[in-house]
Amino acid sequence: MKKETIDYLMNTVGSDFVITNNGQKLSYMYDEIEHNVRPEVNISSIVVKPLNSNEVAEIVKYANENKIPVVVYGGGTGLCGGVSPIKESIVISMERMNKIIEIDEKNMMAVVEAGVTLAQLIEELEKHDGICFPVHPGDEGAQMGGMVATNAGGARAVRHGIMRNHIKGIEVVLASGEILRLGGKLLKDNSGYNLLQLIMGSEGTLAIITKITLRLYPEDKYTASVVMAFENVSDASNAVLEIIKNGVSPLAVEYQDRYLNVESAELLGLHWPLDKGKADILIILSEKSEEALYNSCEIINDICKKYNANKAVFAGTKKEQGEMLAIRSGSYEVIKDNIAYSFDMAVPAGYMPDFLNDLWELVTSYNTISYITAHLADGNVHNDIYMIDGKNPKYLEELKIKMYQLCFKYEGTLTGEHGIGKLRIKDLILQKSKVEIELMKNIKKAFDPNNILNPGTVIDM
Ligand SMILES: Cc1cc2nc3c(=O)[nH]c(=O)nc-3n(C[C@H](O)[C@H](O)[C@H](O)COP(=O)(O)OP(=O)(O)OC[C@H]3O[C@@H](n4cnc5c(N)ncnc54)[C@H](O)[C@@H]3O)c2cc1C
Repeated sequence: MKKETIDYLMNTVGSDFVITNNGQKLSYMYDEIEHNVRPEVNISSIVVKPLNSNEVAEIVKYANENKIPVVVYGGGTGLCGGVSPIKESIVISMERMNKIIEIDEKNMMAVVEAGVTLAQLIEELEKHDGICFPVHPGDEGAQMGGMVATNAGGARAVRHGIMRNHIKGIEVVLASGEILRLGGKLLKDNSGYNLLQLIMGSEGTLAIITKITLRLYPEDKYTASVVMAFENVSDASNAVLEIIKNGVSPLAVEYQDRYLNVESAELLGLHWPLDKGKADILIILSEKSEEALYNSCEIINDICKKYNANKAVFAGTKKEQGEMLAIRSGSYEVIKDNIAYSFDMAVPAGYMPDFLNDLWELVTSYNTISYITAHLADGNVHNDIYMIDGKNPKYLEELKIKMYQLCFKYEGTLTGEHGIGKLRIKDLILQKSKVEIELMKNIKKAFDPNNILNPGTVIDM
């Protein structure tokens, strides 16, 4: 990076908040993507930590005038290489923009800076009796700005939906360096095109999010978790469809192959309580009364028995429930180092039993394995293609395309929640028509004519 750029950044944010040391810089250039598929980063990029929106605006204005790419590093928990600067870039870390500006209990809204982490928000809300923010992707180190930029989903989407459903306002810095406020605390707003919704999920390619207004909700007091073992994933997903149809509205319905649960439990020094069967589901329930909680448990138990579930373990205490969820969330660590390519496909939930069956047959025809975790009730599947002896298998690209074709056959999408990032940028054309891609490119040009915002992400310009 040119000395004059480094000097400019130091003058803007203070020299303590510009990182030039290669070793330190690297920790701001990768997210949680598997090592095997990490994008190659440009190490001459520089990391800068602004304190507020005005500093972000000044940095971006300078970058735009000098045509220097800008990449935002949020919590770094993304799974598709979004934060990696593949060209010489200014990497903006949002970590100092971590103020919770307002908890407005009257409007049931919070206003936060983009660098506030999910953990920080949860901790703050615990001080306000009975209020919660429902979206929860697995890693609480994610920042609210990152969660908006990726339109995060997570386990609780089955009842509460995704980030899009809860974000009412944002403040952004445009590629020109102008600061723009979109939306606010309004519950209804139909004035013109909805730019707020367009920026959500744009992965730092249309604007930099600096502040967020999000909705808050009353928290249910009664919770329980139940794990059930099925003989196969089709039975498990058919049971889930019937549970939802019968009016039970679980907080989360998570599927995971037995192997992953057992190994993840071992890594965490815990015990997975199911032994018979191969396909496990974890259902998390939360209700307003104890009676409603028992009713839901009974309905679930009856339906699962009908689909040959052979054991059900109920967890009532916070500790037991926490352990079950930790085992589910920890499974990525079990397989991460052996993954050649990972998927985040989603299909309409009703097609899940057939989709998962066909996926299993496809994988078997390649004489390999693909471990599955899934947000089952959302139709969202995380599976993988595995390395063989530490190397990518020869059939990697072929099998990947076949898996995507299968997903499209069931009216599915390449990515339900993690996003395109840099990992899937070449794959987007498999799903989208030329017309749609062209419209996306024109939107990108309108927001960012010099292509400085996170180039090489989402859309190939
Ligand atoms: C164990 C584990 C489990 C996970 N489970 C889920 C899950 O269930 N559901 C789910 O949706 N995700 C999940 N994720 C992925 C990840 O947590 C989410 O994508 C999260 O929203 C990313 O937030 P972040 O702050 O870490 O973003 P980062 O990784 O820092 O960035 C993600 C992208 O957003 C951009 N960005 C970040 N902040 C801003 C900003 N302020 N303005 C503009 N652009 C910005 C970055 O440039 C990048 O392109 C999981 C990750 C892990 C490691």
